Amino acid sequence: MPELPEVQTIADDLNKKIKGDKIVDFESFWKKSIKGGSFDEFLRGIVGRKIEGARRIGKNLFIDLSGGKTIYIHLKMTGHLLVKPASMKHGTQNMEQKIQNAKQEGYFDEKVNQYIRHVFYLKDQNAKLKTTIQKSKLLNAKYDKTLEFSDLRKFGKIMLVDTEKVMKLPEIAKLGTDVMDEKFTVKLFKEILKKKQKSVIGNVLMDQSLISGIGNIYRSEILFESGVDPKRKVSELKDSEIEEMYKNTLKIIKKAIKLRGTSDSDYRDTSGAPGEMHRFLKVYNREGEKCKKCDTIVKRKKIGQRSIYICSECQK
Ligand SMILES: [Zn+2]
Repeated sequence: MPELPEVQTIADDLNKKIKGDKIVDFESFWKKSIKGGSFDEFLRGIVGRKIEGARRIGKNLFIDLSGGKTIYIHLKMTGHLLVKPASMKHGTQNMEQKIQNAKQEGYFDEKVNQYIRHVFYLKDQNAKLKTTIQKSKLLNAKYDKTLEFSDLRKFGKIMLVDTEKVMKLPEIAKLGTDVMDEKFTVKLFKEILKKKQKSVIGNVLMDQSLISGIGNIYRSEILFESGVDPKRKVSELKDSEIEEMYKNTLKIIKKAIKLRGTSDSDYRDTSGAPGEMHRFLKVYNREGEKCKKCDTIVKRKKIGQRSIYICSECQK
């Protein structure tokens, strides 16, 4: 599932690629994903509006539009967004176009990017026009870009909301402090843990109502890097261990954003490319392989419902 670094990468990409564009049309091949109203209401609500920008809150993505409206997208398990030039519209390319486009954006042809459930048609309002021919072509084209939602498992959701009500959405209102928020200090981290003395640290790190942004992948990495066994009770942790976990949380999440996320399964960025972070993961998804620090075999355990990966030698 896309976590903080992956959703942040998508939001940053969208701000570079589609900010300022106007939505001219929308198509859905899986209308069940549209929540809070019908497909027609959603369509009427977005067409003609300008994209003001994209932002992330927790693992949720928001695309703010002109006129006080916002598209709320949850990517869930397998969702990701692709921005394509108009010539690449899903299913309509001829062979010559495909060869041409493959050279530019080779990743779009990968299977993982073929589960297109929804398409936003966009018109660039600030296109840099070099020649009059280009200009007339662009002005006459109905759209010049698409934003496509690929979602193998179809669990993703899309909803149109009032921008001013975003923070009041139940999914957002319940979130704790974001790990990338400057308010998330070591002092605050200690205060959060103080209230959860009887809980096991592996669960506390994943509780989005306490701290927002640590998911299953990065939980394993933070605990490994800090040398802490996930099953330890918070009350047993030393101050130095808590400080180490805080430091590693910021270090690992920032590194994952820099490397454009972890693509251990379906996640891709807006050009269809995988992130690089999974190549640097030390325990996550490495069951049966040697620990990168001590050669002990990495084990997969369950904590709550979810898997956690540990080195029993490095983590005490
Ligand atoms: Zn080890």
